[in-house]
Amino acid sequence: MEIGDFKLDIISDGTLRLDGGAMFGIVPKVIWEKVAKPDEKNRILIGLNCLLIRTPTDNILVDTGIGEKWSEKELSIYAISHPPTILSSLEKVGLKAEDITIVINTHLHFDHAGGNTRFNSKGEIVPTFPNARYFVQYSEYKHACSPHERDRASYLSENWLILSEEGQLFFTQEREEIIPGITVFRIPGHNLDTQLVKITQGNTTVIFLADIIPTTMHLPIAWVMGYDLYPVELMEQKKLLLSQAISQNWICIFEHDAKIPAGRIINNGKQYQVKEVKF
Ligand SMILES: [Zn+2]
Repeated sequence: MEIGDFKLDIISDGTLRLDGGAMFGIVPKVIWEKVAKPDEKNRILIGLNCLLIRTPTDNILVDTGIGEKWSEKELSIYAISHPPTILSSLEKVGLKAEDITIVINTHLHFDHAGGNTRFNSKGEIVPTFPNARYFVQYSEYKHACSPHERDRASYLSENWLILSEEGQLFFTQEREEIIPGITVFRIPGHNLDTQLVKITQGNTTVIFLADIIPTTMHLPIAWVMGYDLYPVELMEQKKLLLSQAISQNWICIFEHDAKIPAGRIINNGKQYQVKEVKF
């Protein structure tokens, strides 16, 4: 997709499976299983959709997927399915890891920052994108370094420690413009310090929704995840975001939707619906 000077591609890091109950919080299974069919272990299919933005000056990657540093046991627990991987998806559009100049992490949970780093041939952890500056909210970084018992399992320091040692980690606070036309802003709800990414060129705006609205199935306001730390606050933020997305005709990217990665939202008076946008 081209908007103004920017070229956008969805870059997939494959899929995984997560517990359906955890993905839909208080929504009863008899209701959610109609839209997301669980496997025999009650897990549903989750996409890992990252976004590549090619600008005249930079190649920018928004989130890096779950990455490839997993043991056999973890691969099977999460049913991680590769390829595609971030690197194979980049190769498909003609890019190598070295070509990425900016990485924006919406937050540091392992399914968003797992591809930040990789093993080299000696088994050492190295930055996956050696020429990139990686951007994350400072408050998210501080929290990731000393997480709460409630979200400790989501943070693996192997995904950012080497970046800070190599001087590749950069911090944002609240709302910041990364380059002209690409802005990040902090939004509480899923956790305290997730940042969303807004890309604007002329009249077109694309928004990367991260875990705030992870799939099109999470469009109903009360459909929030069991993982969300502040569900009531999240519901208020969703209302605001969705009303802007509708009135300004934004293209929304659903990071975890395995079927519909992008679309515009409409409200038919009864419910929110998505009109898929193909990239
Ligand atoms: Zn996630």
